[in-house]
This record gives sequence, structure tokens and C-alpha cells, in this order.
Amino acid sequence: MANILVSACLLGLECRYKGDSCENSAVLELAKEHTLIPVCPEQLGGLATPRAPSEITAGKVMNNQGQDVTENYRKGAEAALRIAQLNGVKVAILKAKSPSCGSGLIYDGSFSGSKIPGDGISAALLKEHDIAVYTEDEINDIKL
Ligand code: SF4
Repeated sequence: MANILVSACLLGLECRYKGDSCENSAVLELAKEHTLIPVCPEQLGGLATPRAPSEITAGKVMNNQGQDVTENYRKGAEAALRIAQLNGVKVAILKAKSPSCGSGLIYDGSFSGSKIPGDGISAALLKEHDIAVYTEDEINDIKL
């Protein structure tokens, strides 16, 4: 039994920028043996739902309206880290490719669907604090 931090949208919470979720049955299955702790860093950072989609470009997070939302993303990442640390979390499962939650691969900032190597703001902060981050596509690799 472990405490696992999970992107809330993967658990069926409707917190994505479009106001929907991306529930993942394989991730939910882990709740039979582990405690899954949902977090949505974008909401924790003060952003509304629904909201304009954002991508990382040149070290900033910009939405598709040209607004700089980097501070919201930083604040949300700090909150996610705090929740993880309060719960002794060592492993996180975060939504692939998101500018907050993506791990290893993110959208490239052009809003064209193209991807580049990199981490979302929250995934990067969690990794800096020795929390192992996996995407929903990597759950078979998780070591608990
Ligand atoms: Fe899901 Fe993370 Fe985006 Fe929230 S910030 S909607 S948890 S991918």
C-alpha cells in the first residue's frame, strides 16, 4: 500500500481545460491496492475550468490568447508538491504531455499538436524533490 499522487483528470475529475476528464481505468485500478491522491495543479494555481489551453514556450507558460500564466503554473506546482510531501508520496502518475503534468514529452508551444522532449512545470518540480513521475502510459514500469 502506497500513497500515490495522481493527476485528478486521470481519476475522472472534470478539471481539464475543456471542462472534461480523461479517466483512465488502468490508473483507477490501482486504487484497489493503493491510496490515490488527486491533484490538479492548474486549478490549484488559481486557473478557472474551463480555461484557455496553454503550452510552454521559451521557459514561460502561455495560453492561446497570448497571456502569460507561468505564475499560476508555478503556484500549482508548489501546491502539488506540498500535498505530496504532506502525504509521504514517493511516486506520482501524471497526465502525459500536459504543460503542468507531462513527463518526458510536452507540446512544443506552437499549439499545433507537435511535441518536444521536456517536463511540465509540476512534473519537473516533483522530480527535483525526488518523487518518481510516471505518465498513465508507463504504469507497468512503476516500482512501489
Ligand atoms: Fe489534468 Fe494536470 Fe491538466 Fe489538471 S493540470 S487537468 S491534473 S493534466
